[in-house]
Amino acid sequence: MKSKNSKDLKELINKDPVYIFGHQNPDTDSICSALAYADLKANQGMYNYIPARLGEINRETNFVLSYFSSLKPQLITNCSNKNVVLVDHNEKSQSALGLETANILEIIDHHRIANLETKAPLYVYMEPLGSTATIIYKRFLSARLLPSKNTAGLLLSALLSDTLILASPTTTDEDRLMAVSLASLAEIEDYKKYGKAMITEGSSLDGYSIPEILAIDRKMFTFGKISAFISQVTTYKAEPVIAKKKDLIEYMDLFLKENNATLSAVIITDLSKNSSTLFVTGEDAKLAHTAFNMQGDTAVLKDIVSRKTQIIPPLTEMAQKLNL
Ligand code: MG
Ligand code: MG
Ligand code: MG
Repeated sequence: MKSKNSKDLKELINKDPVYIFGHQNPDTDSICSALAYADLKANQGMYNYIPARLGEINRETNFVLSYFSSLKPQLITNCSNKNVVLVDHNEKSQSALGLETANILEIIDHHRIANLETKAPLYVYMEPLGSTATIIYKRFLSARLLPSKNTAGLLLSALLSDTLILASPTTTDEDRLMAVSLASLAEIEDYKKYGKAMITEGSSLDGYSIPEILAIDRKMFTFGKISAFISQVTTYKAEPVIAKKKDLIEYMDLFLKENNATLSAVIITDLSKNSSTLFVTGEDAKLAHTAFNMQGDTAVLKDIVSRKTQIIPPLTEMAQKLNL
């Protein structure tokens, strides 16, 4: 079946760049998954896959990239008419500008599916695992390839970051298994110790202003007709952040007005207590008040550490129930 035509076609495809990127406000999973997936493609002879990012690299990810001697993915702001692979997200509101006209070739993700429409058929690799990195490691294995030491280190870091060192309820047995295997490939003897150093580095909020704290991990969601911004702060010392409640809510209100949204929340997750404090504001704050049985603008949520599986689903369900 190797006709002249198919060879020409292959050359053409190889010339066209394909940008692999995760969500806005990239976290370690978004950055490392883009890098590792581009590496897998290169290993398969496809050098036109370019790791990209939609924003600045955070402290935690910087630690990881320097630990495993990796370059930063290329910064892009608009993906109009480009070939793209989405990793670690699929919601339009969390993606690059111009996604409507982009050619989405693949999606590799571990989140809910929402608001996505594609122009053409595509490959979708979605599994409810602890990290996109876990799914990418599985892509390596099904291609009968092993990631290099540094790529394994990137994947391990993303997995440990997203699962809060395998402690989050999003962690599956498969994630635990993959963590051991990736740690050995990455030559990390004690991955829990490594994970703690990585998260401690990333959760240091020294010198961060209120807008910066809220921007570290802010995502936009839609619940019915409601547009919402939900930030998460993950730290071993939550009290100093909780103490800034008044300023946090004030800035969240301002941000809502500037961005035409009506619900804003910040989840301050205390890793030393395995719990979160939730502050909510905005015209549609009642959605969160009802979903979490809140008496005012604050809730202390025991054993809740995952936005994806413990915060977003109750909000989605409540919006449906209330017909919002
Ligand atoms: Mg992510
Ligand atoms: Mg992720
Ligand atoms: Mg995350």
